Amino acid sequence: MVAKVLQRPTLVLNRNWQPVNVATVERALTMLWNESARVVDPHDYQMYSWGDWSRLAPREGEPFIQAIRMRLRVPEVVTLTDYDRQPAAVVSFSRRNIFKRDHYTCQYCGVQPGGEELTIDHVVPRAQGGTSTWTNCVLACVACNKRKADRTPDQAGMRLRKQPIRPNWKPLYASPSVRIASWSKFVSEAYWNVTLEG
Ligand SMILES: [Zn+2]
Repeated sequence: MVAKVLQRPTLVLNRNWQPVNVATVERALTMLWNESARVVDPHDYQMYSWGDWSRLAPREGEPFIQAIRMRLRVPEVVTLTDYDRQPAAVVSFSRRNIFKRDHYTCQYCGVQPGGEELTIDHVVPRAQGGTSTWTNCVLACVACNKRKADRTPDQAGMRLRKQPIRPNWKPLYASPSVRIASWSKFVSEAYWNVTLEG
């Protein structure tokens, strides 16, 4: 039972409270113990050092760690005391991430007209069975999108500057099943979860 609790995930924030990682409770407690992290209470945003945290009794019904002489509360969120790394990007298939992958650049003519002048183009048009996937969606400027219309690049006599691929960014969460409700206060749902309609 203790081992299982120690393997629960803890959200790790950098000093600016941006999520950078997910660690096991065991690792989070080690960081707390050696003062490289503090626990953040997601309910009131209070921060706790090891000394403060270890004096708190677990609340009724919440998971705890049974140590030799005490019961320890299980941290859900910790913040690193000396760490400025920026958050790792996730590869969720979202509008934002397509813009990022394609560097705000039209993948046909190479212009960078600014976000509002860019559209998401289905390389093989949906009308011809094209899917909304990393490998079939690219940024296109309004002019290129209009010119291409409901045709493939070949049909339109246009050429992609490079083949679209799924970006190789390290996802923050390996699986949504490890997410904990209180994390949503620190991780924008819109940012992480928006998936484009198929
Ligand atoms: Zn263009």
